[in-house]
Amino acid sequence: MPVDKQSPPPDWQSSGYQHVWMPYTQMQTAPLPLPVVATEGVHLTLADGRKLIDGMASWWTACHGYNHPHIRKAVEEQLRVMPHVMFGGINHEPALSLAERLAKLAPGDLNRVFFADSGSVAVEVALKIAVQYWLNQGVTGRTKFVSFQNAYHGDTTGAMSVCDPDNSMHSHFKGFLLEQYSHPIPHTQDEHVAFESFLASKKNEVAGVIIEPLIQGAGGMKFHPPESVAQIHTACRRNNVLLIADEIATGFGRTGTMFACEQADVIPDILCVGKALTGGTLSFAATIATEKVFNAFLSDDPSHALMHGPTFMANPLACAAANASLDLFETEPRLERAIAMEAELANLLAPCRDLPGVVDVRTKGAVGVIQVARLHNLERLRTRIIEEGIWLRPFSDMIYMTPALSITPEELQTLCEATVRVVQDLANWNSEM
Ligand code: PMP
Repeated sequence: MPVDKQSPPPDWQSSGYQHVWMPYTQMQTAPLPLPVVATEGVHLTLADGRKLIDGMASWWTACHGYNHPHIRKAVEEQLRVMPHVMFGGINHEPALSLAERLAKLAPGDLNRVFFADSGSVAVEVALKIAVQYWLNQGVTGRTKFVSFQNAYHGDTTGAMSVCDPDNSMHSHFKGFLLEQYSHPIPHTQDEHVAFESFLASKKNEVAGVIIEPLIQGAGGMKFHPPESVAQIHTACRRNNVLLIADEIATGFGRTGTMFACEQADVIPDILCVGKALTGGTLSFAATIATEKVFNAFLSDDPSHALMHGPTFMANPLACAAANASLDLFETEPRLERAIAMEAELANLLAPCRDLPGVVDVRTKGAVGVIQVARLHNLERLRTRIIEEGIWLRPFSDMIYMTPALSITPEELQTLCEATVRVVQDLANWNSEM
């Protein structure tokens, strides 16, 4: 159902916007952001009362929809008892239960959980663990990483250094960032052979390979098959290089299994999770290591310890939200829904395939991507999206959606049909040019 044009901004936005710095935004030209006053299920409520179906689930986080009563109750109860306590020298039940549950859920012997406060920090910790893993064993010189073209692993400097160095929002920081190796994701057998010989030639300087398994997110929503992940893993094993799986975006059911690595039957040495960990409630992340990696830090030498500890790590509110989110994965059919959504998205977005300017339509689990030749007139596009009563945030050369895994087939249909109309209009604007 199309909604009316945007109303004037509420007072709090007109005055407060003069003092805020928005993410990924050219503040000189960007239109005012949407003033959102409430969330519920798959809906955002705007200050003027309009409701939009959210196709983004707040950057892949709100996997159960917003304000799920079970998560809200868990956080409210935790808030009464202990909103926060430091984790250095102190343990608490929400964190230790969560660590145990994550260890059970994660593939293989990924048994040791280090809590962080954001995905980027979880990646920083993973890189640090990988480098120290070698140092603690007396192996020096292994301080570099191999990542993949179109990779995105976060916005802090270590994480930025393993993003695509040439084709990413961080490219102009070359010279400031640590230099790493970037390689295309191998697909064919010849490419795998080439990747493995590249890895073999660098193995004495490389601590690990880092990959977003199955879906590269912010680097362009590119997909690769489980076989690529499996063969990259084999190459790492054969060359004695650690494999870090960054499942900050793909984890918690997004690709149809709890973790994308499962589809490749791969147990990485280090796994990063975040985003949907708290069901979209609080900022939280974790770096999970195998026994082999963890054991390399056990020593009589105090300097072999992992010297890292974000102030708010293992925040009890975040742990309570994460535990409640994991309860919901046990009691509600999230993975089944993600699998069903792949077919529904493919079917509902198929009409875009024939539109001029559409280069590709692809779906994987609960992710739908419409790639276009050129995304232009972003402001007009944004207005059309909102007019349709939906929320999407196109970027680069695509319009994509990562809705809540709790979205009903009817809501998904409404979201997709509206999206098809928007892409249709985009195609018409292209032909006007
Ligand atoms: N890795 C991946 C794959 C991500 O998608 C993101 C977030 N966009 C991050 C790392 C960084 O997470 P955060 O934004 O929580 O720092």
